[in-house]
Amino acid sequence: MSNTKGVRQRASRAPNATDPTDRRVLVTEADRTGSPDAEYDPEYARMVEAQLGMLGEDPTREGLRRTPVRVARAMRWLTRGYELDVERVVGGAVFASESENMVMVRDIDLYSLCEHHMLPFFGKVHVAYIPDKHIVGLSKLPRIVEVFARRLQVQERLTEEIARAIESVLKPKGVGVVVEASHLCMMMRGVEKQNSKTITSALRGIFRSDARTRDEFLRLAHNGGSPTR
Ligand SMILES: [Zn+2]
Repeated sequence: MSNTKGVRQRASRAPNATDPTDRRVLVTEADRTGSPDAEYDPEYARMVEAQLGMLGEDPTREGLRRTPVRVARAMRWLTRGYELDVERVVGGAVFASESENMVMVRDIDLYSLCEHHMLPFFGKVHVAYIPDKHIVGLSKLPRIVEVFARRLQVQERLTEEIARAIESVLKPKGVGVVVEASHLCMMMRGVEKQNSKTITSALRGIFRSDARTRDEFLRLAHNGGSPTR
């Protein structure tokens, strides 16, 4: 990684739009969409510029002039999971509890990039655990998902990593994770796979050993009444 990574990108004066060698870029609010910190790696942007040329495009034409910077910034945002870790994300939000009932958060939004094509896959994650003396703040479960989703991934590993993270943070009696996702690399390239969904699950502890717990979880995960299905 270049040591220029993380350059804060707000030009002190407007770039010269008629000079293609002027690499300073004016940051607009539109550019910031999906990328609140607006940081990017200039080396990455230059690579995207070269890529545009290789695709047969003219990187200096009006519509593409800021594309390399936008892509660099978007990719940084879309892979920010590399800069996150579970311990920090959870912080102090683990609390003592005597409850032994299943805790479940359904329909957590998932956006990730497949590591084979660097194309998006997206869908929902359902996470549940049975506490053993500790519970975690509910808002932390989506954030744990984020740590692993915002990297280059395969869905199978993502599912497993989420389960393992919850297990390591909470030491619960069991964990269940179901991920259902649509993969653009299948949808955009295939002809018969447009509507296919990939479903993966990871079951640990009592979710694996006890059929009743497992059935309850899977029933809630698959038939929870989400309006999207
Ligand atoms: Zn793929």
